[in-house]
Amino acid sequence: MIKKLSDHKIKMVNRISPSQYYSAISCPYKLVLANSFGYQSLLPINANAHFGSVLHKMIELISKDVIIDEQSFLKNWSDLIKKKEDELKENGLVGITPLKYFVNDFAFKKNQVKNILLKKRDRLKNTIQPSSTNFFPEKRLENSDKTVTGIVDLIIENDSGTTILDFKTGKVFSDAIDESGITEQTIKIEYEIQLKLYAHLYFLMTKKYPKSLFIVTLRNDFIKVEFENSECEKIYLEALELLSTINFHISNNDMAAIVNPTIENCKYCSYRPACSSYSKWLTVNFEAVNDLFGRVEKINQFSNETIGLELKTQDKLILINGLPLEKKENFESLIGKIIILYNLKKTKQSLNATASSFTVVYE
Ligand code: SF4
Repeated sequence: MIKKLSDHKIKMVNRISPSQYYSAISCPYKLVLANSFGYQSLLPINANAHFGSVLHKMIELISKDVIIDEQSFLKNWSDLIKKKEDELKENGLVGITPLKYFVNDFAFKKNQVKNILLKKRDRLKNTIQPSSTNFFPEKRLENSDKTVTGIVDLIIENDSGTTILDFKTGKVFSDAIDESGITEQTIKIEYEIQLKLYAHLYFLMTKKYPKSLFIVTLRNDFIKVEFENSECEKIYLEALELLSTINFHISNNDMAAIVNPTIENCKYCSYRPACSSYSKWLTVNFEAVNDLFGRVEKINQFSNETIGLELKTQDKLILINGLPLEKKENFESLIGKIIILYNLKKTKQSLNATASSFTVVYE
């Protein structure tokens, strides 16, 4: 729970993936840090995200015909859940296991994946001719120098053309306001961009564009993403341009040009502990996010086997409760030091906070 940042060196970014591109537009430095830390997150990922990776793997196994019936479904489900829970325990996240008690709609989502299995054959029969159809699950698409590269969930090729499908286990739509002021649901822009980049990479590899792009949701909805070939090429060229701009600023040691701390950008950034711009931004924006910085003043022990920490932030004294008693000595060694606590639970009424299973302290 108490960590120190490991030594790291900012490296040139050799590649960008379609799934990273959109978030790198708003803060390119996020990609720089991810690359420098070997894409290993510096903060724990929440239970829903871990569960999402299990759901994604299940859909992949269904598309690969590894899961073909109820029996293989149940076997793979319990194996993957167990493997994920073992991994969480090894990483000190025993507090969010068993996953079924800590993720939203565990049983409902399991049933949704099962429905994908049940409907798969019928659904695909309606969209393609089975005679000459080839399925390519988990297919890598890349340009010739591998600077833009990613793995697409499923490609289906047949006589009438190619369909690229990407599976999404979370929310697919976001609200947008049209010209008349009416709120409508649109596909999340990052997903559209991701698929259009795949389309252009497919073109670069095969000299032909796919005929259709689809997002497949847990409800087994096939959501079509409309596209023009020229638009896909434009996005691809912009991705190359971004990569070149990032590397230009790295070689000039000018990170200020590519870092952009905002609530939206940083909220889910796993590299916050390594981002000095974020740490600086946090000193005046700590009320807007779930992280806190400050000097440790005092440690209090409570009768419920937890400890609390008094933190001096600017001129305010903030209390953080719910920290594990077994870490008391470690926290006492931090008295007088400046620390940052990430992933706290805060309330709107007070600056005081409570630790969660995901709280991590960096000194
Ligand atoms: S913490 Fe914020 S500013 Fe820093 S890299 Fe992440 S998104 Fe960018």
